[in-house]
Amino acid sequence: MEPLITRRAWLEIDLDRMAQNLAEVRRRLSPGCKVCGVVKADGYGQGAVMMAKRLAREGVDFFAVATLLEGKELRDARITGEILVLSYTDPSLTSELLACDLIQSVSSPEYAAALDEAARAAGGRLKAHIKLDTGMTRTGFDCGTPEELDRVAVACRLPGLKITGTFSHFSSSDDGSEGADEYCLRQLERFTAALDGLASRKISTGIRHICNSGGIQKYPQAHFDMVRCGAILSGYPTACHVGAWPDIRPITSLKTTVTCLREIEPGTCVSYSRTFRAPKRMRVAVLPIGYADGYPRALSSKGRVILHGRWAGQIGRVCMDQMMVDVTGIPDVRLGDTAVILGGDGALFQNADEVAAQAGSCMHELLSRLGPRLQRLYF
Ligand code: PLP
Repeated sequence: MEPLITRRAWLEIDLDRMAQNLAEVRRRLSPGCKVCGVVKADGYGQGAVMMAKRLAREGVDFFAVATLLEGKELRDARITGEILVLSYTDPSLTSELLACDLIQSVSSPEYAAALDEAARAAGGRLKAHIKLDTGMTRTGFDCGTPEELDRVAVACRLPGLKITGTFSHFSSSDDGSEGADEYCLRQLERFTAALDGLASRKISTGIRHICNSGGIQKYPQAHFDMVRCGAILSGYPTACHVGAWPDIRPITSLKTTVTCLREIEPGTCVSYSRTFRAPKRMRVAVLPIGYADGYPRALSSKGRVILHGRWAGQIGRVCMDQMMVDVTGIPDVRLGDTAVILGGDGALFQNADEVAAQAGSCMHELLSRLGPRLQRLYF
């Protein structure tokens, strides 16, 4: 059955464009280096199942999600490739991991022991990737000393676990902050040293991976056996590398409809708490999208949308389900017209990096918070 298109507020997601972004990444990888499609948080808000299905059609056979349920959702949708669960799964759910044939990320000796025990009790052997902490200081085995590496080796030999990969994560590959490169390269050194240390202990590390989108672009020497692509598939190369990857383009547009138009007198207050007062006679359009849809309230009187190929500034507080924009300079705006929040119209374009930056955030947060009320339309 065709979905009921309400034209309230919606996402247009161009999966062909995503396939082209994937091709751009692959073009720069050594032969044999795998691509892992990172589709956690519902594919950064763009639909994990639809993205994974298309990536699978393009030959991607490895996916990463954050949680057990995200992995199960992909399995229920008949995604057959490997699926790595990046975050913690309670050991009491090990039989679910086994039933869904998911790979669990394992990040400490205690966690490895608990999963080992649970897997053996369930009569199975749990696929696992060993996570090494090389400087992110979030999760991962400490691996800087011989004693720490001995502990990793002990975890790798547990009979209830089948180690099929070893990985780490850069802390600063996608920002241009001072010292970011030095820090990441130091992380890379630690990762390489830990892999060597494990090899000298006769541990098979399986698939080795450390690069996210930023790492893929900046550190070809760090691609190892697989790279994990999230942002770049969605069309967001790291800001400092946009120029070097000109063919990577955003796959998602966010659009909404003008539902009300009104003329207001000078001095009229707009929206909650009267933070905006009209300085002159103005024409205002109401858009049916608000912070419950993921449009940041922090953009109140700061954001802008594109209407008829022109900018219309957002005014007053962003409400839960609606917001107002100034269309005084765009006299031909009519009820039912489309306003573009992410994407292009005419010569103008606005991407998630820019909108997020205005809200003091990043595109990962902006996209992953796009709410379930927004209809997702795929092309
Ligand atoms: N790997 C891990 C462990 C992550 O947490 C993430 C994203 O947060 C990624 C890969 C993908 O990162 P990106 O979207 O920058 O490619």
